[in-house]
Amino acid sequence: MSPSGTSDPNCLFCKITRKDIPANIVSEDDEFVAFRDINAQAPSHVLVIPKEHIRNISEAGDAEQLGKLFQKACQVARSEKLDGGFRVVVNTGDDAGQTVHHVHVHVMGGRRMNWPPG
Ligand code: AMP
Ligand code: ZN
Repeated sequence: MSPSGTSDPNCLFCKITRKDIPANIVSEDDEFVAFRDINAQAPSHVLVIPKEHIRNISEAGDAEQLGKLFQKACQVARSEKLDGGFRVVVNTGDDAGQTVHHVHVHVMGGRRMNWPPG
């Protein structure tokens, strides 16, 4: 359970937070977990999530928590040595292709990224 108490028993990423299912965790603190994406789209592809169950950034009410989430993403980029640059992606809702409805920041790097995205 997250410090603030919200956890969804059926949510995949809440299960990872609770260690009910395994993940390749790269860093963790009281509020956030970062783990490797199971279907990496770049040499380095890490997901950063709050432990609190929030469905997407539109439903996140806490600006400080969102700011920290992006700081964590930058810490991950540093620890992954993505000195040449990296991409952060936050898919939000069905049209964006969000498949796991627990807010997460993709941190991707280690190759040249293309634009526009698909
Ligand atoms: P999104 O499409 O933005 O919702 O991203 C969800 C991401 O979660 C995808 O990139 C999946 O590859 C990734 N994913 C799904 N299941 C797992 C898992 N068990 N461990 C790590 N990453 C996962
Ligand atoms: Zn969740």
